[in-house]
Amino acid sequence: MTRPAITGATVVAGVVGAPVRHSLSPLIHNAWLEAAGIDGIYVPFGPPADGFEAFANGLRGGAVRGLNVTLPFKEAALALADKVSAQARAANAANLLVFEADGTVVADNTDGLGLLAALTIQAPGFDPRSGPIAVLGAGGAARGAAAALLAAGAPQVRIVNRTLAKAEAVAAALGGSIVACPLTGAARAFAGVAAVINATSAGLSGQGDLDAPLEASPSQAVVMDMVYKPLVTPFLARAQALGRRTVDGLEMLIRQAAPSFEAFYGRPPPSEVDVRALAMKALGQ
Ligand code: NAP
Repeated sequence: MTRPAITGATVVAGVVGAPVRHSLSPLIHNAWLEAAGIDGIYVPFGPPADGFEAFANGLRGGAVRGLNVTLPFKEAALALADKVSAQARAANAANLLVFEADGTVVADNTDGLGLLAALTIQAPGFDPRSGPIAVLGAGGAARGAAAALLAAGAPQVRIVNRTLAKAEAVAAALGGSIVACPLTGAARAFAGVAAVINATSAGLSGQGDLDAPLEASPSQAVVMDMVYKPLVTPFLARAQALGRRTVDGLEMLIRQAAPSFEAFYGRPPPSEVDVRALAMKALGQ
């Protein structure tokens, strides 16, 4: 991949996180920019953990068109925005900030779109309306997933979390057909589901597997993991050993990036470049 030429008109966007070095977003967005011949660039920003507000407020006015936001700044990003989309409000977290020329900051959350698109692509025919869906975790990713699944017509979402109180808080905040369950009761929560989605950070490289009895889910249930390092997490490996259809977090990462790209550069990403293959190479797959 050759680096795009920088001109006086180059549109700048990026990703902010702490740490940010591991992010695959620069690889994905810059590959799309190059393939589309867009005069733009996408760079990583790593302010100190207590310096996010100063950093983001300093960008008001639009010299930088926008930012994707990753851990630990997603809640802070939501808090400093002047306008907030329904998706970001429901997730209580923003993964996208756009800096308008008049100084306002607009927050959105594209993780829900990414989740649904990944399910459509890697589990063709899956219909979120076909049964209850178990979501493991009660952080921003789980809350955003639950909101997106309910909006897509899931008849019930079961939030399963190690700390029950956090799952109950998510259920209370979102309302609708959503129930909270402790991780120790996961077997009951998995009964009759259409899908099980891991939205915890368990399974990340070097961390242990999630103690979740996937065998209690129906054989036709789709199993998804938002974690993508490693690409096949111990959780997904267990699902595959049980013969379940699986969906990986890398597909979600790529699909949540697409609407961000459009927000920054004014058009959808090009289809000619295989960013999944590039990302898999970067992950050592
Ligand atoms: P978060 O707010 O830190 O929440 C972490 C959740 O994981 C909590 O519910 C926590 O449970 C649970 N957890 C952590 N370790 C656990 C363990 N060993 N056993 C059981 N539960 C455990 O994080 P987040 O922002 O929601 O993100 C969650 C994960 O999704 C991260 O790995 C993130 O990278 C990933 N993600 C991926 C994408 C993508 O595009 N693929 C997008 C968004 C997020 P407690 O409440 O009990 O502490």
